[in-house]
Amino acid sequence: MTIATTSKVGKKTITVAVSGNPNSGKSTLINGIAGTRLQVGNWPGVTVDKKEALLEYGDKAIRLVDLPGTYSLSPYSQEEVIARDYLIREKPDVIIDVVDSTNLERNLYLAVQLLELDIPVVIALNMHDEAEKKGYKIDTKPVEEMLGARVVPTVATRNEGTRELLEAVAEIAEDPLKHRPRTLSYGDDIETAAATLETRIRKDYPAFAEQYPLRWLALKILEEDNLILGETGLRESLAGEALHHLKKAHSEDMESVMADARYALASGLTREVLKVPEIRKAELTEKIDKIVLNRFLAMPIFLASMWLVFKLAFDTSKPFVDWIDLVTTGPLKRWAEAIAAITHSPAWLSSLTTDGVIGGVGFVLAFVPVIFAMMFFITFLEGSGYMARAAFVMDRAMHKMGLHGKSFIPMLLGFGCNVPAIYATRTLENTKDKVLTSLVIPLMSCGARLPVYVLFVGAFFSTHAGTAIWSMYVLGIAIAVLMGVIFKKTLFKGESPIFIMELPPYRMPTAQSLLIHTWEKGRHFLIKAGTYIFAVSILVWFLLNLPWGVADKKDSLLGRGGQIVAPLLAPLGFGNWEAASSLITGVVAKEIVVGTMGEIYTKKAEEAQKEPPPPLSEDLREICFSFFTATKNAVVNVFSTFKIVSLAAEEDPEGGNLRSRIRAAFTPLSGYSFMVFVLLYTPCIVTAIAFRHEFGTWKWFGVACAYQTVLAWLVSFVIYQGGKLMGLGG
Ligand code: GDP
Ligand code: MG
Repeated sequence: MTIATTSKVGKKTITVAVSGNPNSGKSTLINGIAGTRLQVGNWPGVTVDKKEALLEYGDKAIRLVDLPGTYSLSPYSQEEVIARDYLIREKPDVIIDVVDSTNLERNLYLAVQLLELDIPVVIALNMHDEAEKKGYKIDTKPVEEMLGARVVPTVATRNEGTRELLEAVAEIAEDPLKHRPRTLSYGDDIETAAATLETRIRKDYPAFAEQYPLRWLALKILEEDNLILGETGLRESLAGEALHHLKKAHSEDMESVMADARYALASGLTREVLKVPEIRKAELTEKIDKIVLNRFLAMPIFLASMWLVFKLAFDTSKPFVDWIDLVTTGPLKRWAEAIAAITHSPAWLSSLTTDGVIGGVGFVLAFVPVIFAMMFFITFLEGSGYMARAAFVMDRAMHKMGLHGKSFIPMLLGFGCNVPAIYATRTLENTKDKVLTSLVIPLMSCGARLPVYVLFVGAFFSTHAGTAIWSMYVLGIAIAVLMGVIFKKTLFKGESPIFIMELPPYRMPTAQSLLIHTWEKGRHFLIKAGTYIFAVSILVWFLLNLPWGVADKKDSLLGRGGQIVAPLLAPLGFGNWEAASSLITGVVAKEIVVGTMGEIYTKKAEEAQKEPPPPLSEDLREICFSFFTATKNAVVNVFSTFKIVSLAAEEDPEGGNLRSRIRAAFTPLSGYSFMVFVLLYTPCIVTAIAFRHEFGTWKWFGVACAYQTVLAWLVSFVIYQGGKLMGLGG
């Protein structure tokens, strides 16, 4: 046990680690206790959130550290490793284990493991309100006696029991030795083996006996925990004869034996302390699961619900995206021009601020509603308990192809935007699966590719617009699965862990937790991607305008770059510098492909017809008015989600002009080839940042760029040359 350190004000600081299953109410509890004092950072080296708060409590200071939510303390997921390393290395004074009272057995499985660390534990019996509603009675006294841990019922959503929780923490800190957790028995044979090991370690490796909780270390060696064996250099043979007997007796690997023993403890405890009403009608959860997990209905329901999330996210955010677009391209731009005129700033500066900075910031902002809407609906699915079912349903199908079932969720999210999809790979337990999934996510056709499709389909395939665009999505999925299988067979050999998931009960997520989690997910995008993409849009502006004063865009740096790249693209059917330049800028973000084409193909002369700007007050009125319209449209969209939006409605007045120029520069075949290329070639810059952010290295982004560029070239080549051979035109 560590001696509590002293804070600046001379108060004793008690360090409290808050642990618990995902969805047990940890975030709600901590936010309730800490409020605005909560500070969010990252755990060193990884992107998992680390939340901390320092509270004054009587004559003490309490430091709360929020550990990642886990079901276990085995070394299989990043979250589990972080939680366990923290507990072992930092040796907090007290652990608060947030337990979902409606799911006692599953939650006690973690509690059993926390107790082994020889740190006093306070169990917060959370969701006590729901347990009561179900008629559950949990006897706290026997739990306290059997576990040697304090037990405090809480209702995090109403901040009930938090005071008692802190009181218990303070009391324990006064006399930690009096509150040492009980040792739970794994049964005679395992206990004998563990005791032998403990003696050996104490005698031969006294340093380890100091550094680790001794019994825990012994148990880890028995279950051949690779991480601990690697860290200490100890061998399981240390346990000698006893282990040999154990293995023989159980004819199963020790890890499963120990896991079974823990489950037995958790379920035994549950049986002792939990009184469930005798005759319980099939609960709502069971009723829903009968349908949702039905062999035949499961998949259609899953696909439909993902489609709905995807559609709702875009329908609700689209009006706001348009609104941001309107504000940044209209009033903001006019104001910047007006300011430039008043201050007599040089032409280049004015162009940089209006086209580069405002265009750039507007571009970043335009992503924000989509991201947050997407995160909101996904958080809803997670919080409601459906996401766990979705993963469960997909697992079998994906496993047949050697892929991890859970990979499918992030891949589907990729339809919206590849960036949150990459972040969503966090739900995968092991790094191999995370990387593999992230590598194929950019093949999923994200929303940013849509403008390109709409432009080209409008120019060439307007009678089959729907089918043409649909074919892009299908192609994306097909190639992603194919590449997934190839990667699995080459770069990432090895079995995916079979993924066992307990299905939490369905529950209506509260507004508070929806907002907290949506914000937690979305803020990464705001902070990191925002800064990078902002810088890059300025760079693009320079590339299109340098050397300063170029009369023809063809002679700008970008234009010249396009001329260099163009011959490489000739075999694909679009070897002109305009297409090449657009593709170069499209590396930043695929919407820019259309933007650049627009700039290249529209004539300079159009700038002449400038109207005098409207007065400021009128602008402000319009901004507010259009915001209300956007809000109204978002609501209307939600209600009309099932109607098919016609593409013709998206036509803009200048579109016709651009379209005819596209018709002049491409053929239907080369246009289709171009669409395929845009679908498949390098992920955008924001995705690059997500890659870097998730994996801490550029390596995997490099791999994605390289293989996708080759893939895009090959597939477009086959389509274009194949099409030509089949007589589909040049
Ligand atoms: P975390 O994953 O452990 O951080 O869990 P959250 O704090 O996000 O909570 C999961 C869900 O349970 C949210 O919808 C919460 O509003 C809800 N919740 C948390 N604590 C309680 C509680 O004591 N009672 C009830 N009824 N709901 C709760
Ligand atoms: Mg949480």
